[in-house]
Amino acid sequence: MGTYGVSVFTAERTLTRREFEIRSPRENQVLIKVDCCAICTMEQRVYLGVMKYYPFAGGHELSGTVVETGDKVTQLKAGDKVAARLLTNCGECYYCRNGNENQCVISFKASTHEGLNGPGGLAEYMLLDSRSLFKMSDNVNMAHAALAEPLACCVHSIGNGRIDLGNDVVVIGVGIMGAFHIQLAKLRGARVIACEVDPDRLAVAKMAGADILVNSKEENAIEKVRECTEGRGADVVFCTTALTKLASEAVEMAGKLGRVVLYSSFHPKNPIDLDVDKIHYSERILTGSVNPNIRDFHVATRLISSGLVNPTGLISEIVPFDQLTHAFERAVDPKTYRIIVKM
Ligand SMILES: [Zn+2]
Ligand SMILES: [Zn+2]
Repeated sequence: MGTYGVSVFTAERTLTRREFEIRSPRENQVLIKVDCCAICTMEQRVYLGVMKYYPFAGGHELSGTVVETGDKVTQLKAGDKVAARLLTNCGECYYCRNGNENQCVISFKASTHEGLNGPGGLAEYMLLDSRSLFKMSDNVNMAHAALAEPLACCVHSIGNGRIDLGNDVVVIGVGIMGAFHIQLAKLRGARVIACEVDPDRLAVAKMAGADILVNSKEENAIEKVRECTEGRGADVVFCTTALTKLASEAVEMAGKLGRVVLYSSFHPKNPIDLDVDKIHYSERILTGSVNPNIRDFHVATRLISSGLVNPTGLISEIVPFDQLTHAFERAVDPKTYRIIVKM
């Protein structure tokens, strides 16, 4: 059937193209032609050598079109547009059985292309299990469809925040994840206070639907949140920035019975001080959020397919596959939102 190219990290700032044989899908497999692959933080860390996993086939946020299906596939057919959930889960462990497959003990051991470590979304074709593919609407924008994975991560986080109608919700940091949190919190009927130091990003927060913008460089964000909530503090706080100072502020901003979701991970680890009495007396809940469940992914694909969530302003550039180095150099610039590679 011919061959296809996969881009592989082979050293710091080095990407090498490898060729693989295109194989026909069998049973539950589906052959897709990859359309768009977005560059996430994890790929940036490998590119910059912060994580030295070489060789590594990166790319886990992608959309594509079905080329051919195995004989046991019933829900997809050639020509269907799809988004892929490449997070693998065993289906057998305690967490999978409880319906919390994002906490699976073996998750993310993807090896999509034979003998290559990594999810491998920076590829022209992929052979995937039908269970990892989610059908998108026929008229979906394929660059938007590639953002189903990061949106699904935020859907999970929003679920952990348990937002009620009319709640006061703070989103700290307006990168792509913060902007998705704002859009989703608005869909849940919240009043959203966005805190950010960069005026350009505050403008993105406004576009995403934030009701109150706080420039945390110019004003004391904790005081401002108290002021907006008659001194109570917020019902829910999402911290989407990996700064310990902001994680501590997130805890401070929450009011009685408030929920704090520490969305960002820290590399390297960086503990914060916690006033235990404050948690005790106020019954605040501290939690995190990691990876989407299958249901979160399904919800994200529905939100993008229907246009209920619109990622237009969150894509900085769409770069062709043969200009991958340019794509990565743009992606590691802290000023950019998502860079999408067009296959
Ligand atoms: Zn991602
Ligand atoms: Zn499991």
